[in-house]
Amino acid sequence: MKITRNGSIPSKPGPEAYFTGQVRMDMEFNTEAPARVGGVTVTFEPGARTAWHTHPLGQTIIVTSGFGWARIEGEKRVDIQPGDIVWFPPGVRHWHGATDATAMTHLAIAESIDGRRVDWEEHVSDTDYHSP
Ligand code: MN
Repeated sequence: MKITRNGSIPSKPGPEAYFTGQVRMDMEFNTEAPARVGGVTVTFEPGARTAWHTHPLGQTIIVTSGFGWARIEGEKRVDIQPGDIVWFPPGVRHWHGATDATAMTHLAIAESIDGRRVDWEEHVSDTDYHSP
């Protein structure tokens, strides 16, 4: 059994290349092969969101606080709130983040393949972010 104790990993900012706005990442975890699941708690301040991206093996996010938005490309934006479990299928372009007025925190969990669990693309424009 491995226990990573709360407080043992410094908080990190979300890289500007992959996020818009103020984003904090906490308690990232990874597992060793043959396991391949990993995850991180991500906190988005109002207006903050991921860039467009896909996950080669999909991703689950579990909202733990606040109120946020998510969108699969070509679909309506959806509200997400604490307790919601959201599945993004493999290869589906999407983004997730805070609303323009409220912060949101989620636990993001995904499996990796060939050493990666996300493929980043361009930033989400303000127009797309604000479009219902
Ligand atoms: Mn995602």
